[in-house]
Amino acid sequence: MIIKDLEVFPLLLPMKQSFQISGGTVGDGNQGAPHVYVKIISEDGIEGWGEARPSHRWSYETMESVVSTLQKYIKPAIIGKRGDDLTTLHEIIDKEISSGISKGQPICKAAVDMALYDLMGKSSKKSLAEILLGRSSEKIDLSYLISTSNINEAAGKAKYASENGFKAVDVKIGFNVDFDMEVLETVRAEAPNLFLRVDANQGYTLPEAIKAAKKMEIIGVDVFEQPLKANDLLGHRELRRKTSVPIALDESIWSPSDVLQAIRLEACDYAVIKLTKMGGITGAKLAGEISKEANLGLLGGGLTESSLGLTSSAHLFNYLGITLPSDLNGPFFLTDDPIQNKGDIEMGSILLPSGYGIGCVVDFNKLETYKTQV
Ligand SMILES: [Mg+2]
Repeated sequence: MIIKDLEVFPLLLPMKQSFQISGGTVGDGNQGAPHVYVKIISEDGIEGWGEARPSHRWSYETMESVVSTLQKYIKPAIIGKRGDDLTTLHEIIDKEISSGISKGQPICKAAVDMALYDLMGKSSKKSLAEILLGRSSEKIDLSYLISTSNINEAAGKAKYASENGFKAVDVKIGFNVDFDMEVLETVRAEAPNLFLRVDANQGYTLPEAIKAAKKMEIIGVDVFEQPLKANDLLGHRELRRKTSVPIALDESIWSPSDVLQAIRLEACDYAVIKLTKMGGITGAKLAGEISKEANLGLLGGGLTESSLGLTSSAHLFNYLGITLPSDLNGPFFLTDDPIQNKGDIEMGSILLPSGYGIGCVVDFNKLETYKTQV
């Protein structure tokens, strides 16, 4: 199976609401969310689809950098190569776009890796779930996202999650410790039985994180995610020594080697596995396997990917045996995406489409509708 072409589709997908994290807005409700779809075509006419979801607030990768890297570097490097030889293709891609401290441009590379898996699945007439798991997987549990600076809204969302079958809530904090703790107390009161995952998105200093963690012990927070800056592994280790609340790393771990560093430095109890952040299925799979071998807990997450990235992530999380509800939060922000057979959320779970490869059917009219110039 020889790669014949690679096409790039920069899109702005319509949003229900803006997405605010402690670092700023990662999706503007008025402008739409930046997503880049990639199609890889084999010489025998099979098409594989992948997705990148960049934001300059998550990392240095932007819609513009993803598109130009795909078109100017990755496309010319992989055309004419065997599409089912993932090891060689990754060597070629990583040679074209070298690593910095961590993997170079993982969000962009994730779209290509995803498209290659889709292509391989369609070519071998196997679903992604069958390739990874050896069997089909039909659904995944989602956590309910609470990202608001309004206490009453937080209370309403926690109540909704509790009454609608969700088993976990994921609360974004990292703005002001006293206010954040008020939000968490409110959420815990409204959703006393749900797994409470709290994500500061690097928003705290070490003294603030220690103060917050002491309060979280009383509130009953189940996991405290990425309180400190991404490069502060020693700070996270120090925090772990001062609190009984388990600490998760997300922005600190972008690759399997980042996970190894976190393990060596005893910097976390949980690793957050995200397909788009970790260079695709290949990188996220290895990062998850290493984390499991080190007895870390695993949390699944995403970068608000559309149904294409969400479905790929879900199959990988099912393979990794992630049983805690995942923070695949695209459905909480997007009003629509270019996938025809997207899954519905029922009682806190999303039903996954079936079919060869990732299993998603792309609607070309919607690609046209949401297309943007870069
Ligand atoms: Mg996070």
